[in-house]
Amino acid sequence: MFASIRSSVFVALLALPIWAQRTQLKPDFNIFTVAQDIELGRRAAQEIEADTKVVSNVVVNDYLNSLGRTLIAAAPESKQFQFQFRILDERRINAFGLPGGIVEVNRGTLESAVNESQLASVLAHEIAHVVLRHGSHQLSKAYTLQSSVSRLGAIGKTSISEALAKTRSSFSAGSTLLKNPKDAEDEADILGVQILYDAGYDSNAATAFLEITAAKTNAPSRPVNHPETAKRIARIQKEISKLAPRKDIITDSDKFQSAKALLLSLP
Ligand SMILES: [Zn+2]
Repeated sequence: MFASIRSSVFVALLALPIWAQRTQLKPDFNIFTVAQDIELGRRAAQEIEADTKVVSNVVVNDYLNSLGRTLIAAAPESKQFQFQFRILDERRINAFGLPGGIVEVNRGTLESAVNESQLASVLAHEIAHVVLRHGSHQLSKAYTLQSSVSRLGAIGKTSISEALAKTRSSFSAGSTLLKNPKDAEDEADILGVQILYDAGYDSNAATAFLEITAAKTNAPSRPVNHPETAKRIARIQKEISKLAPRKDIITDSDKFQSAKALLLSLP
C-alpha cells in the first residue's frame, strides 16, 4: 500500500510541468506604520481631488470597487489597508495607487480598456504599489537621508507632517512622491501580474493594455508617469512565463461593458 502510494505520487510529480518560481517581493524599509500610510493616502487624495473632479456616478463606482475587491482578495497582505477606488474626471490614461489603499483611476483608463481584464491589470498594478508600500517607503528614504536619525531610530516616531515638511514633499500631481522610481515600477508590474493571475484574469491583458496606452499617448517611449513601454512589456512577459497556464481565464464581463458605456455617455 505504502509503495503504491509512493509510486503514484512519483508519477504525478513527473506529469507536472516544472515552472520557474514566481518572483518573490516584499516591502522595503519603512519608518511609518500602516495607519500612517492611510493618513498619507488621505492627504494625497485630498490634494489630487482639489485639482481634478471625481466622477460620482454610483453604478460605475460600485462596479469599479467590486472589481477592486476581487483583486484585493488575491493580493498579499492586503487586509491591513483600507482600499477604495475612485474615478477622476480626466481623459488621459493614468492611475495612482496611494499609500494606505486609495486608488485613483482616470476615467480615460476605464474608457480605453477593451475588456475587464485590461482594467483589472491597471488596478492590480496600483494595488501592488499599495501593498508594497512604495509611497511611504519613498518618504522614509527621503526623510532618513535628510535627518540625522537612523532608519531604526525613526521607525514609529516620525509624524507624517514632520516628514512632509522636512523633505519638502507634497502629493500634488507631478510631485516626486507620486512618481515612483523605476525599481518600484518594476515591482508593481511584477506583483501586479501575479495578482491578476491569482484573481483568475488573463495575465496577457497587462501587456495588451500597455500597448493601448502607448498608442493613445502617441509617445511609445513615455506613457504619462510610467517608464518605457517596451521594457515593461518584456518584464511582464518574463513574469507571465513563470506562471503555469490555467483554464477558465476571465477576460471580460457584461458589467464592465455596461459600466464603460455608461461612463462614455457621461459629460
Ligand atoms: Zn506604477
